[in-house]
Formats: sequence, C-alpha cells, structure tokens
Amino acid sequence: MAKHSLPDARGYFGDFGGRFVPETLMAPLAELEAAYRRATRDRGFKRRLAELLTSYVGRPTPLHPARSLAARLGGAEIWLKREDLCHTGAHKINNALGQALLAQAMGKPRVIAETGAGQHGVAVATAAALLGLECRVYMGVEDIRRQQLNVVRMRLTGAEVVGVDSGSCTLKDAINEALRDWVTNVRSTHYILGSVLGPHPYPMMVRDFQSVIGREAMAQFKKATRALPEMVVACVGGGSNAAGIFTAFIPHPGVALVGVEAGGRGPGPGDHAARFTSTAAPGVLHGTRTLVLQDEGGQVLGTHSVSAGLDYPAVGPEHVNWQRSGRVVYTAVGDGEAIAAFHLLAESEGIVPALESAHAVAWAAKVAPTLPASSRLLINLSGRGDKDLGEVARVEGGTP
Ligand SMILES: *Cc1c(COP(=O)(O)O)cnc(C)c1O
Repeated sequence: MAKHSLPDARGYFGDFGGRFVPETLMAPLAELEAAYRRATRDRGFKRRLAELLTSYVGRPTPLHPARSLAARLGGAEIWLKREDLCHTGAHKINNALGQALLAQAMGKPRVIAETGAGQHGVAVATAAALLGLECRVYMGVEDIRRQQLNVVRMRLTGAEVVGVDSGSCTLKDAINEALRDWVTNVRSTHYILGSVLGPHPYPMMVRDFQSVIGREAMAQFKKATRALPEMVVACVGGGSNAAGIFTAFIPHPGVALVGVEAGGRGPGPGDHAARFTSTAAPGVLHGTRTLVLQDEGGQVLGTHSVSAGLDYPAVGPEHVNWQRSGRVVYTAVGDGEAIAAFHLLAESEGIVPALESAHAVAWAAKVAPTLPASSRLLINLSGRGDKDLGEVARVEGGTP
C-alpha cells in the first residue's frame, strides 16, 4: 500500500474529515486504526491481499483503448480502466476484500455492512463467504424492494439481510442501524464501510484499498503510450472509485483530474446529488466533517439520481480538500445525459456501463471533441450495467 501524507494524525484532510462519533465508538475506531497500520506493515497481510486481488477479483483489470467511441466523438483518444470486469461487477470488492482480511487479522469472526443499491452489500457478502466470516447486511426496506436481485445474491452467499424500516427506509437509516450493531457487538464484529466516508480511519483506509486502481492504470498507461493521460475522469458518489484512480496521479500536475457527480433531474433542492456544483455547505454527517447537501436550517436534504450509487447527500472529506486546493475539478451530469452515455458506450464499444460510470462517460463524451487528437483521456469505468437494465427500461417507458 502506498504511503500518503494525508490525513493528519487526527484524520483531517485540511479542514475536513475527523472523527465525530459517540464516546462508545472512539475506542473501536482507535483499535481499527492501530490494526490497519499494523496490517500495512505486515508482509503476510499484503501478500494475501495481493494474491486474492489476482486470483479472485481478476486484477489487474484491463486498460482498454476505446477507439470506436473516440472515432465517433472526434478529438481526444479515450482509454477505459475496466473495473467493471472485477468479480461482482464493480470496484467495491477491492475494499470489501481488504477490510474482510483486516477483520480476520483482528480476530473478528463477524462482519456487518450497510448498503443502499446493494452493490457494497454484495461485495461484502462475497468476501465474507470466501473468508468464512459471519455476515449481516443492513438495508432499508425501500431499497430491498427496489434491489431484489442483489438481495438474492447476498442471501445466496450466506449473508443475513436485515430490513430497516425507520426514517426514510433507505441508506442513511441502514447506516444508523449498522453503527448501533457495531457498538453492541464490537468485540466480535468489524464494520465494513463502503466508500471514502465516515469517521477516521475509514476515508484513508478505503482510499488505500482502492488505490490499486490508479497504480495499475498509471503503469498500464505508461506501457501502452509511454506517457501519462492529459485527463482522468471518474464518477463521484461517496468518492471511492475516484479516490482510487486519482491518488496515483495527484503528484503529477500535468494530469487534470475531474470528478463527475449526479446532476439528477436538475438544480432544485432534492433533485440531484451535486455537492460541489450546488449549495452544499460544510457539516457533519455519519461521523465526518464534509460538504453536506442541507437546507438553511441544517436539515439534510433528500437527493435524487437515476444511479443509486451516486445518490448520497455528502461526499468523502478528501475530495473536499482536493477541490479547495484546486487539484481536482468537480462537475455534474444529469440523468438524461448519463442514460445517453450508457447507450453510446454500449453501441460503440459493446460495453454496458453501470449508470454511475455512465456519468463519467457522459462528461468525457462532452469534452473529448474539444481536445486535440494528440491528447488522451482516461475514464475509470467503475462498474458494469447489468444491474441497471431494468431501471433504464423503466425510465425509457419500456418493460424491463
Ligand atoms: C457504489 C458505486 C459507485 C459510487 O461509489 P464511489 O464510492 O463514489 O465509488 C460508482 N460506481 C459503481 C459501479 C458503484 O457500484
């Protein structure tokens, strides 16, 4: 695992991050941080993770020159980092497997997780099955209804899926339940958080587990082109796939980095999840100080996106620091543009992207024609679109 200077000792990336949790969680978080630091120095741990990333996840994932897409758009070369080819269909398994191994190293036989769309839940249930860990996944009853296929996959791999019927019956209520479980069962249980969110050390740890994406992409890109890309584009929900690919390129100022958020139906409150490009303000949500979509009274706003994975009112604290420093630029793409890009990639390259990833493709498709043919654009294709076929059909008025 690469060394990074941030966060500082208290878990801050500039003014963002930290550890805003009840007293009962301070000791478990300190224990987790110590265990993680031990693991990063442990050759055996690193070797076991590297082996599983190869033999089980399918790494390194390919770097694919999307020549037909580029020819269709005109302008820059376009390259795809194929995280959609990871086992279980997205980048989330990189982190789930790392944290499941860490649970084992801590001597904890049980893992829990929260999930919204179900992708993180599937990744955790998969890693738990592989390593023989007991697994419980909290999921809002509304999400259970919308994401039946993922619920079935979790149960098939032996996880217990627990419906949460408090509040809005969605992701944020599931996070609260998972935290409650963790406080009660902390001796036996590790909580596997799914993105670069939550209290320290999660944003750092999840970034590190995902940073294999950028390390591979950079080496593959140099080998294929003898150069670095001019621009790297990734979608940003909580921000883990983006942090995973950006981290390797951060020290190279010649590489522009662009994060794409969900513009949803439009700029109105509740219609999008664009934390950077709208009126989000600093606040604390789920244990970290970051940008939060909220009203003037500080109430967290509802969000909307056609892609469930981007539909969250806050963003990873390191992203806020990258934005404030000017190192990464953030932009948003709406539901309609994302669906158009979903079709564009399917038709031009024969690759059906996740709707989340389609946001990155949509932005790249807008900017590529404005760039010289000698420039190279790298898109992190975070996941595959099989899970979204029903949703796309529904939006387009057909039958799934
Ligand atoms: C969950 C998910 C995302 C969003 O999460 P990040 O932490 O922002 O990466 C993006 N793409 C896919 C395919 C996902 O499953």
